[in-house]
Amino acid sequence: MARVIMEKVYIKQILEEPKIDSDIVVRGWVRTKRQSKNVTFINISDGTTIHTIQAVVEADTVSEEILSKINTGACIEVYGKLIASQGNQKVEVKVEKINVLGEADPEKYPIQPKKHSFEFLREKAHLRPRTNTFGAIFRIRHALSFAIHNYFNDHGFFYLHTPIITGSDAEGAGEMFKVTTLDLKNPPKTENGEIDFKEDFFGKETNLTVSGQLEGELGALALSKIYTFGPTFRAENSNTSRHLAEFWMIEPEMAFYDLVDNMDLAEDFIKYLVKYALENCADDLWFLDARFSDEEKQKPMAERSEMGLIDKLKFVTENDFQRLTYTEAVEILKNAKKKFQFPVDWGTDLQSEHERFLVEKHFKKPVILTHYPKEIKAFYMKEAEDGKTVKAMDVLFPGIGEIIGGSQREDDYEKLKNRAAQVGIEEESIWWYLETRQFGSCPHAGFGLGFERLVLFVTGMGNIRDVIPFPRAPKSADF
Ligand code: ATP
Ligand code: MN
Repeated sequence: MARVIMEKVYIKQILEEPKIDSDIVVRGWVRTKRQSKNVTFINISDGTTIHTIQAVVEADTVSEEILSKINTGACIEVYGKLIASQGNQKVEVKVEKINVLGEADPEKYPIQPKKHSFEFLREKAHLRPRTNTFGAIFRIRHALSFAIHNYFNDHGFFYLHTPIITGSDAEGAGEMFKVTTLDLKNPPKTENGEIDFKEDFFGKETNLTVSGQLEGELGALALSKIYTFGPTFRAENSNTSRHLAEFWMIEPEMAFYDLVDNMDLAEDFIKYLVKYALENCADDLWFLDARFSDEEKQKPMAERSEMGLIDKLKFVTENDFQRLTYTEAVEILKNAKKKFQFPVDWGTDLQSEHERFLVEKHFKKPVILTHYPKEIKAFYMKEAEDGKTVKAMDVLFPGIGEIIGGSQREDDYEKLKNRAAQVGIEEESIWWYLETRQFGSCPHAGFGLGFERLVLFVTGMGNIRDVIPFPRAPKSADF
């Protein structure tokens, strides 16, 4: 006989479909306990929703000994009846019995019911998911991941798993982390005294991937439309609020797409994701919207966001992104009244201050910049007709700067080979990549969306370390 699975009920469901006068069991972590003479109020969260449920304990239903163990952070199991409430919430639990599943010493539990700084909470990454803000962020992070798979599945893309350990260091997207099993204290040496990687696990030098793109292209040139969604590693020693050493990237690659198709896809994709969050994470977004407004009030007038969080999200879904070329952008920046820290000249890479000026001050909406000088972009980008620029595109977002980087890919074998040689990439290391341009090459394009930058935008948080559960950054890999 099939076993009947008794589904446990979680607070989200209890609040969404309240069965008044039914017997219920609530399990979760105590947020607050308030005691008066005849009654004790306990607020419980189980993380399934931003909302807590209130348990009401009347005198003599629960022993003093148990009550004394019910402190902020403790985990409890409450048996009782769901009743209508006069308070802020529509329902509450009239308690019959409480089991303490796990105590939390109030002298030692670090997350008290008050405002903690995000810096402090980063040091408590094992407990911060229990706070309202991080609960909301991680639920939204989940919803966005789910939406990404949904979008691609609905549009005929295949999820391709590209390797995390890579033998090619050709992507050129950033500094790499080495992967080795050699004895660091006593590595094998070649005759010229260099480390002999032939003795290493893979018989060659290997690294953690900085991008799944090159392998993604191989997939697109067989399955037409693929995407990757996986961890990505960059050993860039930049302690910024927008860079992590380990982050997640979404990289679609499409055969038969040119630069315009690529831009259309990127814009439609981001709008879908933001809309998905607005429709499916309303409670969490309301909470973060209030937090965002509080935070903005602390800033000087000139730096404050003109829009609230939810307004900002709606604005993105409702307006076309501004598309222009790098050359046009440089003209705008040169004519701007604002004095930049870094000078702008055709041929130099744009700095974050330039990107943010274009998005936040000049156009006041997301911007897609195209046709960058080929010298400042990767070797695989398709050369434009002018011979000076490549068919690159960067999508720039308010408060974030670059959220997507992509391009049409060079599909001409000779051009690609020459470009690789020019930038010093050895043919042997990417022979397989070059071969796809010899056997059935075709126009194709793709891009990379940094998942945490998207979550930053949607949640309105200020630091990328606060939108991933366990951030990895220079000098920080705890938990
Ligand atoms: P940036 O100039 O901001 O460092 P990039 O030019 O190095 O970005 P790409 O190599 O094009 O970025 O990577 C694609 C996307 O991955 C970027 O648009 C961004 O959203 C994200 N990304 C890149 N580096 C990081 C990082 N260190 N941490 C988090 N996200 C990143
Ligand atoms: Mn970078």
